[in-house]
Amino acid sequence: MDTKKLGFNSKLIHAGQFTDEFGSATVPIYQTSTFSFKSADHGAACFAGEDDGYIYTRIGNPTINALETSIAELENGYRGVACGSGMGAVTAVYFALLGAGSHIVSHNAVYGPSRVVMETLFKKFGAESTYVDATDADNVKNAIQENTKLIYIETPANPTMGITDIKAVVEVAHAHGIPVCIDNTFSSPYLQKPLDMGVDIVLHSMTKFINGHADIVAGIVVTRTEEYYAAIRGAMVNIGSNMDPHQAYMVIRGLKTLGIRIDRAQENAMKVAEYLENHSKVEWVKYPGLKSHPQYELGKSQMSGPGSVISFEVKGGFKAGKVLMDNVHLALLAVSLGGVETLIQHPASMTHSKIPKQQREEAHITDGLVRFAVGIEDIEDIIADLDQALAMI
Ligand code: PLP
Repeated sequence: MDTKKLGFNSKLIHAGQFTDEFGSATVPIYQTSTFSFKSADHGAACFAGEDDGYIYTRIGNPTINALETSIAELENGYRGVACGSGMGAVTAVYFALLGAGSHIVSHNAVYGPSRVVMETLFKKFGAESTYVDATDADNVKNAIQENTKLIYIETPANPTMGITDIKAVVEVAHAHGIPVCIDNTFSSPYLQKPLDMGVDIVLHSMTKFINGHADIVAGIVVTRTEEYYAAIRGAMVNIGSNMDPHQAYMVIRGLKTLGIRIDRAQENAMKVAEYLENHSKVEWVKYPGLKSHPQYELGKSQMSGPGSVISFEVKGGFKAGKVLMDNVHLALLAVSLGGVETLIQHPASMTHSKIPKQQREEAHITDGLVRFAVGIEDIEDIIADLDQALAMI
């Protein structure tokens, strides 16, 4: 079946899938580290790339390949490289495109470790980085240097929910011959397709929406061209940030319901955002679905929906936010997002605590910012939980 012609929800279920001689309805788990060759010549041909037979699971595996094929098709990309975690995907891209004397321009509100890894580990090997407010593409343009090898953006950004104009950044980058990578974790291909907007590389922490059940850590990179694919696969294979077959099976299972999970979660998130915006104890709310979001129109033009992550601050800053976090019962006080369960966390002391305070403030990650990742529970229960916790402040 040519799954490329199917609708998105049908692709979620059928793209990249295959069956075995028993007609299994789901992709089997090939839980093996290595694959035997038919002959010495066959083994040599596999290594020479003349035969596409499997060699060793770090290099490739049928279950992992099914997932890679599926996400690549959902992103309208060339091919995918699955990784053991989202950070495995981020670092595979960095390793493939950066080196001593090279430079990256990135958004100052990216996921904390995506920045920390540049400013600590890659810095040790002589790679430079500049972090700007990429929600203004001119800031990206002005930060480009002769040695800039990659523009790395997250939109919507974690945890500020700032939205970057993808097409504007692509125009600026490509005018200088620089590739653009977008971390599409917050939207998933269901809500945003960066490769269709000219982006070269897209990546995900599949730990979030794509798997969606808070039971797996996983990542993936999808590229628009063969060239970037080969470079990133080579990096992943050699640094060993590969996925495991069982992990791939779990993600394939979660992926099938991505559309209906996001529909429900963002319907809930819209109601939560409106509730918070009208609450007397709330200082501000940032959610791409609210007209008060500074890039509301831009968000609508490049995303088919606002997603289900909200950032907000209660009056009284961090102290009051702590009372809120300590008194919710339905929402779990936990990092991560994109799962079926509602989560609440405090970026300044948790996910972004390794970013110095001054840098956090420049990126609008205030000490009082609380991140709320809305799940698919009944909306009445989510709001009742917030209501009783806000009453404690
Ligand atoms: N990118 C974003 C936007 C994230 O939120 C995260 C994790 O929270 C990552 C990357 C890293 O992914 P992982 O935790 O799967 O390594």
